[in-house]
Amino acid sequence: MKMEQTKIPQATAKRLPLYYRFLENLQASGKQRVSSTELSEAVKVDSATIRRDFSYFGALGKKGYGYNVNYLLSFFRKTLDQDELTKVMLVGVGNLGTALLHYNFSKNNNTRIVMAFDVDENKVGAEVGGVKIHHLKDLTKVTDLSEVSVAILTVPAVAAQKIADQLVEAGIEGILNFTPARLDVPDSVRVHHIDLSVELQALVYFLKHYPV
Ligand code: ATP
Repeated sequence: MKMEQTKIPQATAKRLPLYYRFLENLQASGKQRVSSTELSEAVKVDSATIRRDFSYFGALGKKGYGYNVNYLLSFFRKTLDQDELTKVMLVGVGNLGTALLHYNFSKNNNTRIVMAFDVDENKVGAEVGGVKIHHLKDLTKVTDLSEVSVAILTVPAVAAQKIADQLVEAGIEGILNFTPARLDVPDSVRVHHIDLSVELQALVYFLKHYPV
């Protein structure tokens, strides 16, 4: 089967890491094939959506057979660049930043935080989770932007926009924003926003008002 690297819808692209992680576990347990129903139960995405997602990259699945796990994985690896290490920087080594540095995506993923920045002189120069903390003023000095094009932002909300401007100026292409601040960036820069308190509040609200 030909592996098209054509554009897939954003909603589909967002689900790929989810599929990828589950399929990797399946492969590790020696499974060769998987049905959309099995996948659906595991990743909590309805099976019609899974079939549509998979059809975008030519994995059509056969009735009574399902999908070939190795084929899917090799497709995902290419699409998600899992064969290459994606290097990421983190700005703001507070509580959340520290947790992320320790976590450092070591499971199922070829993404690594390779450098961190802060402005607190007590933190600059130290290492957290094996990652060196630099002063933010040295951003362009220590970063090779051809190698690191994604930044995780875990600074106080009030500082977020100014730092985002600096990151954009330095050539960062993607920001994973953990602060509650809404960032204003040029169209060429992609921001994904994860506001943990809002997510948690939303969950609590839904539990209260829309019990399952
Ligand atoms: P802590 O208890 O270590 O301060 P926290 O998560 O409660 O952690 P925050 O006030 O959210 O602290 O700050 C997160 C981190 O962002 C801190 O390490 C802080 O030094 C850093 N920080 C604050 N302002 C900036 C800035 N302008 N540029 C870079 N880092 C900053």
